[in-house]
Amino acid sequence: MVTPKKAVTHDIVIIGGGLVGASLGCALAPLIERHALRVAVIEAAPLPSSEAPLTWQPSFDARASAIAEGAAQRFRRLGVWEAMRQEAAPIKRIHISERGRFGATRLNAADVGVDALGYVIPNAWMGRVLHYHLTGLPLEWHCPARVETIAPIAEGHRLTLSDGNELVGALTVLADGGRSGLKEQLGIDNAHAPYEQTALIANVAVSQPHQGIAYERFTRDGPIALLPLPGNAMELVWTHPAGEEKARMTLSDSEFLAQLQGAFGDRAGRFTHVGSRHAYPLTLTTAREPVRPGLAVLGNAAHALHPVAGQGFNLALRGVTDLVDTLSDGLAAGQPLGAMALLEAFERRREDDRANVIRFSDGLVRLFGLDLPLLSHARAAGLIGLNLAGPLRRSLARRAMGVER
Ligand SMILES: Cc1cc2nc3c(=O)[nH]c(=O)nc-3n(C[C@H](O)[C@H](O)[C@H](O)COP(=O)(O)OP(=O)(O)OC[C@H]3O[C@@H](n4cnc5c(N)ncnc54)[C@H](O)[C@@H]3O)c2cc1C
Repeated sequence: MVTPKKAVTHDIVIIGGGLVGASLGCALAPLIERHALRVAVIEAAPLPSSEAPLTWQPSFDARASAIAEGAAQRFRRLGVWEAMRQEAAPIKRIHISERGRFGATRLNAADVGVDALGYVIPNAWMGRVLHYHLTGLPLEWHCPARVETIAPIAEGHRLTLSDGNELVGALTVLADGGRSGLKEQLGIDNAHAPYEQTALIANVAVSQPHQGIAYERFTRDGPIALLPLPGNAMELVWTHPAGEEKARMTLSDSEFLAQLQGAFGDRAGRFTHVGSRHAYPLTLTTAREPVRPGLAVLGNAAHALHPVAGQGFNLALRGVTDLVDTLSDGLAAGQPLGAMALLEAFERRREDDRANVIRFSDGLVRLFGLDLPLLSHARAAGLIGLNLAGPLRRSLARRAMGVER
């Protein structure tokens, strides 16, 4: 429990400059200014020319995320929404259906009196905007640098970096996506519930304008989501039983498009082009200890969800702003940033939202994944009922927008 002399002490160290760590860096700007906080962000992957002015070249190989209206409001608060929206496609309508069954649910922006139910933004653009914003803030940016070891000490946590630096964080935020082994070093266990499914992601072009419609189609093998992108491309998230995606990853483009057409049908038009394909194995993973003295776990490191309801990053962004609000309260009250009482207050703010979102998206996957004839009818009836029952549908729309917890 001795702090090495050469380690540099920071008020807050963020491990991971991905979507969540970078958002947290941006969200801390007012606290950095008001309290002269010393903050460092450490990101392992090199960023392509992050200081260059923001420009965008559309390509066919980028992942995109559905961002709820609530997340857009948070991006406004961070001062990045104007830039984000340059490459954001508004979702005007969500169409939910089940292949081979009668019944569909339509959620309309107009029904809830808003211009958009949410937005779809390429992840590469979100990263670009956040990193560009970060470079203008008075914080330390260690990139590329990997945190190799983390250990609790009396002052917080001591980190050793691949670039030879050693840092001590009074508060360390673990936003490493959960795959770097740091949670294991700390002895923080995960709860795993594998879905035995893999998401195949690609951008596709369609023969007709998408008109801002996002489709969620439940098939026997798992859900298929099609999200509108800026211009006329769409983001495909095609869930497969684990292992079955492998054959589709290697199909020729024309064979792939024909199989997609067969599985999805014609509702969105004819699929004419597909970009590069990426596969993501799906498991519900949650960290059993989201906070410890001097440590908070955020984003995918805290909860990796099934992408069916597009909630993972939206949930994480609420965690980011709740953490900043809790730290702001703590600083005003003179509490140390790593104090367990403060971090427990943060966890109390988060637990219901997190549990609700996990229950919602996990329940959706499991409800549509069960192949029982009676259940299918119940699901179809449910979809039809949802279509008819205005208040229920509006409630679902508000949840999709991230304005209902
Ligand atoms: C197929 C799919 C589709 C999705 N679609 C949506 C959607 O539509 N809407 C939505 O809200 N969510 C969606 N999600 C969830 C969303 O992608 C995640 O919630 C989000 O990416 C989590 O970001 P993160 O920053 O926590 O983790 P990551 O994106 O994994 O970032 C972690 C960062 O930490 C860095 N890092 C790792 N280890 C270290 C280390 N030791 N030292 C330093 N840096 C390190 C990595 O380089 C990386 O940049 C989807 C997820 C999947 C799999």
